[in-house]
Amino acid sequence: GEALAVSARVAPLGSRLVLLLVEDLTEARRIEAVRRDFVANVSHELKTPVGALSLLSEAVMDASDDPEAVERFAGRMQNEATRLTSLVQELIDLSRVQNDDPLEDAEPVGVDELVAEAADRCRHQAGTKQITMAAGGTADLHVWGNRGQLAAALGNLVENAVNYSPPRTRVGIAARRVTAPGGDLIEIAVTDQGLGISDKDKERIFERFYRVDPARSRATGGTGLGLAIVKHVAASHGGEVTVWSAEGQGSTFTLRLPEAGAARDRAQQHPALD
Ligand code: ADP
Repeated sequence: GEALAVSARVAPLGSRLVLLLVEDLTEARRIEAVRRDFVANVSHELKTPVGALSLLSEAVMDASDDPEAVERFAGRMQNEATRLTSLVQELIDLSRVQNDDPLEDAEPVGVDELVAEAADRCRHQAGTKQITMAAGGTADLHVWGNRGQLAAALGNLVENAVNYSPPRTRVGIAARRVTAPGGDLIEIAVTDQGLGISDKDKERIFERFYRVDPARSRATGGTGLGLAIVKHVAASHGGEVTVWSAEGQGSTFTLRLPEAGAARDRAQQHPALD
């Protein structure tokens, strides 16, 4: 009787274990496929500018007796080199946010500092397009996290807003505190009057290397990694990033992050998390 009872207890547990193992294998296979895709994408993205550079350098050599052509080709070489540099930089940023635990050296970070830094990053580009940048509600708000990662995340959102907007439009950054069951959150919304994003693309723009219009994105120096970085930073800080957009009207990207005080209180209530 006892043996039967034991095997009856083991059987369901056994099938659970088998199921878990199968799920684990499927997950492992999925991760492996994602990794393979990523490497293929990186290779492709690197090959494009390197190939262009090689062709252009040949063109320069052939045109050595035509100074105007040399200058034109050299200018294009410079653009390709710039693209290559920003791609490599974004790859480094992405691997950094994926590998470093942001909460290891988390601290309260002033939202006004983050906004000022993000605006600085795009000041030149906004200036040439006569885009007005305005920020509001940021005073005295603090989020909890890794300063460098948070600055990179907000910087990417503001940079996109400027890049994907026509000249003489407005980019607004608005911050506020919202109460949430798990502790207060800080919401930072970046609004533009740009192209907007279709519903179909909205689901995919946070994927690595996904670009709605690769040609246009390339012209602005886009790598398709920016929003993947933002999403990763938001999630690893216990927050999220969402998008609202109407085609032809503009977009709002909203970053929600734990408020500094609330995050600290939570850590004190659960010292194990500290
Ligand atoms: P990229 O380096 O190409 O800007 P991102 O990951 O930052 O890469 O963005 C992915 C794509 O999402 C962009 O190529 C662009 O098509 C679209 N996108 C991002 N931000 C905006 C925006 N504010 N307005 C319109 N489209 C946007």
